[in-house]
Amino acid sequence: MSAPARPVRHFEMPGTFAGRLHARRYLLARRLVQALVLVAFFGTAHWGWKVAGQPLLAGNLSAAKFAGAVPLADPFAVLQVLFTRHALAGEALLGAAIVLAVYFLLGGRVFCAWVCPMNAVTDAARWVRLRLAVRDVFAIPPGVRYAVLGLALVLSAVAGVAAFEWVSPIAMLHREIVYGAGLGLTSLAGVFLFDAFVLRHGWCGHLCPLGAFWAVVGRGAQVRVAFDDASCTRCGDCLKACPEPRVLHFNEAARAGMVASGECTNCAACVAVCPESSLRLALRAAIPTPPTPTSAPAATGTPTEGTTP
Ligand code: SF4
Ligand code: SF4
Repeated sequence: MSAPARPVRHFEMPGTFAGRLHARRYLLARRLVQALVLVAFFGTAHWGWKVAGQPLLAGNLSAAKFAGAVPLADPFAVLQVLFTRHALAGEALLGAAIVLAVYFLLGGRVFCAWVCPMNAVTDAARWVRLRLAVRDVFAIPPGVRYAVLGLALVLSAVAGVAAFEWVSPIAMLHREIVYGAGLGLTSLAGVFLFDAFVLRHGWCGHLCPLGAFWAVVGRGAQVRVAFDDASCTRCGDCLKACPEPRVLHFNEAARAGMVASGECTNCAACVAVCPESSLRLALRAAIPTPPTPTSAPAATGTPTEGTTP
C-alpha cells in the first residue's frame, strides 16, 4: 500500500512585523552586506576611514586593499589582464587568489547576490516586471554569457586592455556610487530597463560574463543549498521565488542532496519561502548524499514568478 500523499502547503507571508522580518531575513542580510561593502569603500575614499592606522578598504571592486595590507582583486579582471600579456604585480595575483578562495568557499555567485551593487537594480526590475506582468520580448539561449566571457578574454588579448572592465556596468555603477564618476547612472538605467521590459533577469542571468565566471567557480563551492527530497511536496514555491533561470531541478537536487548548479547564487530566496523547510544553506561536506537514486517527478512547465518574500 503506498503512503498517503502529503497535503501541499504554500508559503504565506506572516501577518506580524517580526514574522515578515523573518521571512525577509536573507533579503535583508544581502542588502546589508551589499551596503556595508559600498559604505566601506565610500568611507575610506571620502572620510578617510582607517583600521589599525591604515585605509579600511581602498580601491574598487576590481582591485582593492584591506587595512593597507590585504590585497583583494577580481580574479576575472586579473584573468583579462593576463590575456593582454601585460606584466602583473604579484600583489594582484595574491589578491585574486584570496578572493577566489573566499568565493570558492562561500559559493561563486555569492558575489552576484550578496556583493554586486547591480543586484538591487535587477531585483527592482524583477519587482516591476511582476507588478506589470511584463512578458519577454525575446529569448537568449543558455550559455550565451559563457560566450561573452570567452569574447571578453579574446578581446583583451587582441586589444591589449582588460576588455570587460572598460564596459562593465557593474564597475561603472560602483565608481559612480563610491567616487561620483563615470557612467553609473547610464548603466543602472540600461540594466534596469533591459531586465524590467525586455528579458526576465536578462543581464545577470543571460549576459554578464562576470556572473558566468563565478558560476564556473561555484560548481565546486562549499556552501550549497541542501535539499531534502523526502519532505518536499513539490509545491513549487521555490521555483517561483528563484530569480535564476535554469537552477532548480528537483530530480538533480534529489540525486545530489543539494542544488548543484554553479549558477545558484546562494541568495536563499528559495529557503525563505519553502513551507516544509526542505531547503537550507549548508556546508557541502555536511550534506548527506541520498543513499539511492530517487525517481522524483520532475517539475513541469515554466514556473510563474512571484513568491519573493
Ligand atoms: S523545496 Fe520547493 S517545492 Fe519542495 S516543499 Fe520546498 S518550496 Fe515546495
Ligand atoms: S536555488 Fe535558491 S539560493 Fe539558488 S539562486 Fe535559486 S533561490 Fe537563490
